[in-house]
Amino acid sequence: MDKQTVRLIFIHLLMLSVFWTGTSAAALVVAFFFFVWRGLGLTIAYHRYFTHRSFKTSRAFQFFLAFAGSMCMQRGALWWAANHRRHHQYSDTENDPHSPVTGSFWHAHMGWALEEKAFETDYSRVRDFDAFPELRWLNEHSDLVHGIYATFLFLLGEGLKIFMPQLSTSGLQFLVWGYLIGGIAHLHTIFLINSWAHIYGKRPYPFPAREGRDNSHNVGWLALLTFGEGWHYNHHCFPMSARIGLAWWEIDFGWWVIKILEKLGIVWDVKTAKRPISS
Ligand SMILES: [Zn+2]
Ligand SMILES: [Zn+2]
Repeated sequence: MDKQTVRLIFIHLLMLSVFWTGTSAAALVVAFFFFVWRGLGLTIAYHRYFTHRSFKTSRAFQFFLAFAGSMCMQRGALWWAANHRRHHQYSDTENDPHSPVTGSFWHAHMGWALEEKAFETDYSRVRDFDAFPELRWLNEHSDLVHGIYATFLFLLGEGLKIFMPQLSTSGLQFLVWGYLIGGIAHLHTIFLINSWAHIYGKRPYPFPAREGRDNSHNVGWLALLTFGEGWHYNHHCFPMSARIGLAWWEIDFGWWVIKILEKLGIVWDVKTAKRPISS
């Protein structure tokens, strides 16, 4: 067993420390808040912005997006974008970094990310963002973001323990719930897009004529957990669209937030696609 797999198993086992730290309503609120934060950070920042450039924004907000996304357990923004661009280029073929069609479900789910070769960032695929030194720096130091995030959670929990003891919480409780359990839950929802949504679900209309078909599917329940990512067939058909849930009933929380950011003037030139008629 390689050391990355050992580390991953260890992180999962670490969740058992919840039986020692205990649970409180405050810890559950923090876990939920940061599950939402990470979910939106992943889909809006890493996926829709850094990978597909589906909207434009300022350099400052761009950095904020990279920082927010770095709080997920999915390495730096440029690493993520480079891999995902490759996924779109070679979907479900031998060159796809994660496909349950050419490899196993486990490999597509997370085995691929644990391989030694998967740790390198292929900067040749993200030359557009590599031009910003602050983004390259953050990409190389995403662990620092985790340090800041974990310290913040711990201090918040300890502060509440001192000043609001009636909440029965602590810094360690916030770490276990807000960082670990919420983070791992989010990690698996995103990995299910690469594994489950490339096998099961619906392909409700013909794939638009373009090169490179694939085995992506729309999975409604997964879209709710991933803030819109689960409409994965829509996304593979129209990867440049900032809106992934294309029908009115295809709930896409990430899109709602982008619309708010657009109304506030924080993002602009937002690209969208129209849903074709179902077959
Ligand atoms: Zn895909
Ligand atoms: Zn994509």
